[in-house]
Amino acid sequence: MSFSLELTPAQHDLVARVHRFAEEEIRPVAGHYDWEEEFPWPVLERAAEEGFYNALFYRDLISDPTGLSLPLFMEELFWGCAGIGLSIVMPALALSAMAQAASPDQLVRWAPECFGTPGDLELAALCISEPQGGSDVANLRTTARKEGGEWVIDGHKIWIGNGGIANVHVVNASVDPELGHSGQALFVVPGGTPGLKLVRKLEKLGCRASHTAELRFEDCRVPEDHLLGGSDRLDERLDDARKAKSRADGGGSATLGAFEQTRPMVAAQALGIARAAFEFGCEYAGGRKAFGEPIIENQGVAFPLADIAAEIDAARLLTWRAAWMGAQGVPFRLGEGSMSKLKASEVAVRAAEQAIQVCGGWGYVRDLPVEKWYRDAKLYTIFEGTSEIQRLVIGRTLAEAAPEGPLHFRLPGNKGGFDRSFGRGTKRRSQAAMALLRIAEHTPAALTRTVGSIVSPPKKGK
Ligand SMILES: Cc1cc2nc3c(=O)[nH]c(=O)nc-3n(C[C@H](O)[C@H](O)[C@H](O)COP(=O)(O)OP(=O)(O)OC[C@H]3O[C@@H](n4cnc5c(N)ncnc54)[C@H](O)[C@@H]3O)c2cc1C
Repeated sequence: MSFSLELTPAQHDLVARVHRFAEEEIRPVAGHYDWEEEFPWPVLERAAEEGFYNALFYRDLISDPTGLSLPLFMEELFWGCAGIGLSIVMPALALSAMAQAASPDQLVRWAPECFGTPGDLELAALCISEPQGGSDVANLRTTARKEGGEWVIDGHKIWIGNGGIANVHVVNASVDPELGHSGQALFVVPGGTPGLKLVRKLEKLGCRASHTAELRFEDCRVPEDHLLGGSDRLDERLDDARKAKSRADGGGSATLGAFEQTRPMVAAQALGIARAAFEFGCEYAGGRKAFGEPIIENQGVAFPLADIAAEIDAARLLTWRAAWMGAQGVPFRLGEGSMSKLKASEVAVRAAEQAIQVCGGWGYVRDLPVEKWYRDAKLYTIFEGTSEIQRLVIGRTLAEAAPEGPLHFRLPGNKGGFDRSFGRGTKRRSQAAMALLRIAEHTPAALTRTVGSIVSPPKKGK
């Protein structure tokens, strides 16, 4: 399916519904949950009633061939509040990691438990990062070993969204540390499993409505079938990785590929914050007067906002492109997923900072929401891969992929025969136009007009 900026009717309705939800249910309480650092259970209940908090909803959005439904949902939700947005989508992040590894039976079993049902909500967490380093995922130290019919997990995790309060923890652990990243596997650890300990809830700069925790796994035992993908698949994978290691090519990195696919979703969240701050800044600058005129009449105020307007749209185009590539299975040869996350997160920080600047002193105090957006936005240059890691991922592709040229060089394009030989810009079309001009004066006007209409520029909208 071709990339298109035109939304389907269902996508238009989705945007309108989520925007209304963000405006009516999230914005009025965002300040409260942020300041109190309280988990927004009532908002999750409302989201569940609206159908935004269940596994089938995400399955629907993920299977959209245009790729745009999920980023559209994320941008509107996070326009409301990033902390509450994270609380709502955290189970989907865990589920998306689970879906990459789990067997169909495991998905049927665990996916509903990530969300629960209205009135009886459940939570899920994705446990990857560790205190000694989150960027270097090959160097994670949590281990899983098989003992009898159980897996025994030991390790230390930090920065875990919904950690310790979730019903389902999707935990990354190493079964063969020698193999680095390829020796890791994902396990489901249900909340309340003996040996899973919530060390502390972390106090954050922003996104404070979301729950983020430090966890320990000490002799934490789960049944054999909690290994996602099962033992046979793991054994095969480890064998392949050992062979690749002995060939000294190190093998591929499944998780890095998976991150490329999820990064546009995180980018879309950052766009929601950027847009919230930008819209507020523009409205304030239009209404606030200094020296007898609205401050937006000064280029010193309008130009930085103009830059932000262009950067937000550029980041959205990158985000939609990456989401479309993921949905269409177009390989991310130049780290296009990372590009979207890098640009969207950095413009979110700049947009929020500029909104504070535009609001002057009022921007620096809690009377206005802009200081909160600034605190929220900063997370986006850190989690799901820092800005430096995004540059690293893109940088690593450059020597090999950049000389291949931009993405459209690689896409197969329309193979149509007539268009290929006589379409706009083709040599034959130019030759025909030239020939027509030469014979025009000896030809009946009606015939010239007919042929001319074929080779002349199209009317607007055609
Ligand atoms: C609020 C919050 C929520 C989070 N939620 C989750 C979650 O739900 N689940 C989860 O598993 N994790 C989560 N994370 C973890 C997050 O993904 C990590 O914090 C992030 O990957 C960075 O890891 P680190 O903090 O260990 O920093 P480090 O990896 O120690 O990096 C420190 C600094 O060094 C830079 N750096 C490192 N290596 C390089 C390099 N090679 N080149 C250039 N610069 C480099 C980094 O960019 C960074 O600036 C969350 C984090 C936060 C703050």
